[in-house]
Amino acid sequence: MTTETLEFQAEARQLLQLMVHSIYSNKDVFLRELISNASDALDKRRLAGLTDERLRADDLHIDVVPDPDARTLTVRDNGIGMTRDEVVGLIGTIARSGTAETLRRLRESKEPAELIGQFGVGFYSTFMVADRVTLLTRKAGEPTGVRWESDGEGTYTVETVEDAPEGTSVTVHLRPEDGEDGLHDYTDLATVRRIVKRYSDFIAFPIRAAAPDGGEQTLNSMKALWARPRSEVAEEEYHEFYRHIAHDWTDPLETISLRAEGTFEYEALLFIPARRPHDLFQRDGSHGVQLYVKRVFILEDSRELLPDHLRFVKGVVDAADLSLNISREILQQDRHIQLIRRRLAKKVMATVKEMMTGDADKYRTFWREFGPAVKEGLLDPAEDRKAILDVSSFASTAGEEPTSLAEYVARMKDGQDKIYYMTGESRAQVENSPHLEAFRAQGYEVLLLTDPVDEIWVEGVPEYEGKEFSSVAHGAVDLPVEEVSEERTGSYAPLLGWLGETLADVKDVRLTSRLTNSPACLVSDAGGLTPTLEKMYRAMGQDVPTARRILELNPDHPLVEALRTAHEQRADDPALTETAELLYGTALLAEGGDLADPARFAKLLADRLARTV
Ligand code: ADP
Repeated sequence: MTTETLEFQAEARQLLQLMVHSIYSNKDVFLRELISNASDALDKRRLAGLTDERLRADDLHIDVVPDPDARTLTVRDNGIGMTRDEVVGLIGTIARSGTAETLRRLRESKEPAELIGQFGVGFYSTFMVADRVTLLTRKAGEPTGVRWESDGEGTYTVETVEDAPEGTSVTVHLRPEDGEDGLHDYTDLATVRRIVKRYSDFIAFPIRAAAPDGGEQTLNSMKALWARPRSEVAEEEYHEFYRHIAHDWTDPLETISLRAEGTFEYEALLFIPARRPHDLFQRDGSHGVQLYVKRVFILEDSRELLPDHLRFVKGVVDAADLSLNISREILQQDRHIQLIRRRLAKKVMATVKEMMTGDADKYRTFWREFGPAVKEGLLDPAEDRKAILDVSSFASTAGEEPTSLAEYVARMKDGQDKIYYMTGESRAQVENSPHLEAFRAQGYEVLLLTDPVDEIWVEGVPEYEGKEFSSVAHGAVDLPVEEVSEERTGSYAPLLGWLGETLADVKDVRLTSRLTNSPACLVSDAGGLTPTLEKMYRAMGQDVPTARRILELNPDHPLVEALRTAHEQRADDPALTETAELLYGTALLAEGGDLADPARFAKLLADRLARTV
């Protein structure tokens, strides 16, 4: 049979280079990666056997075969195996989205290996210890197998082989030991046993090695971790299990275990990761909960088991009373699954709440990584919004640290009955916005909401603890400040009318008490689209008309006063039209908005400055 030589995809090549030259000190983990892949392949095989009699295998296992003479270590499974196309597609390329980003982060990271598992490139980690890797595989039910080999230097070979056993075997040709790079002797059985015990004890299939007496020994205990009482499991075992299912090399932030007894029994072991996955906000991003039925792996990525806004939670749910053949369609409608989902969501929220009161640092990490996802839950009226708001925190004018709503409410001034907020793209932009001036001046705290999702949920969530949410940039101010007097309003009427006619982009012009230092600002109608939302819709390719907003003037500002006097004296002066334009442009700039014609604005401004310097 002919041997084909193929090139690794460019990103895969770069990643391999990182592995080959890896300085990561803990190279043992390559074995964990191989065993993890073998275990996944066995899960898939068992599942396939449930629906197709011919694929059934009774003796699912992993063999680890050290060979000191050949200086090789082989990890062999009788799992699902791969076709030739799968080998090329799965091993020769990195198909996942976010690869370029992955590589950038890997290159910048001091511990690149820490990121490896997270991006599903585990197999390549063999090149940390190998100068050649051979993979022999036959897909269950297929007549022929494939032999794949590479030295990790840019190309690999594939050839068809007739007599490969079903499943996959990976042979790692170990580099000569030079003693300096901390390589253990991976052909030593005691070393292998230690690594398996450490990283893969919970794997549900036997990991076997040839025993010195010629027989076989099983290296792992195979105990399903979620079935063991929490008091009997070491924290480290949970963390190792987490890394196995989450492809993450960092420890989780929280471990949650749960057991339901009664008519519908299930066990759940959930983890809150310490950092967000790179695809958290991608539409096809992965969900983290696996479904087992009576210890048998059934489904990866079960979206039905947790609401979308908790999609970052990883773990396992093992239900006793479901059919092994359950499909996604049935899952979606199953009443028990809906109950599980509600219970798990509640438990996760309760855990976050405990974190909030018990471990502020942990909570802060949690909220920084996952807050924007959690807040998506507020968009769904069927969710328990109160529970979500209870664990939310927001930047605020009250200080550098984010505040919870309960804390905000506790600080509310006498007579204040609303929770004031302002949305925008960044804290700096919002914080400097003229809209905040009067609130600041009078000591009212304003929440600074800068996640894109904030723009949306504030429209749909009416209140927290009976306190309405109220935007400081929407509609008229309702601060208990002195209203602008009628007399004053009267004297300004001609100017306001004229500005309304002159400035085509504004809907209305009025006086305000919301400003103390700035001459003018723009406000949206209550219920109208905010500029940030408009931008977001446009970025998503939607055609939204620019909403015309209301120009509000500060009657105490010298510029506004001067403009009124000038308008009384020389209403027809074209220079006044330019001043009006500059005033409007300045209001837009102050809130971080984009001028329709920046060049024209710059020219008007320069001309004006030329006359005053
Ligand atoms: P990951 O396991 O994170 O997906 P890997 O690079 O380790 O990334 O493996 C890539 C893919 O190759 C796996 O997702 C799996 O589809 C396939 N694969 C790897 N090892 C095996 C194996 N022992 N048996 C079957 N398929 C495998």
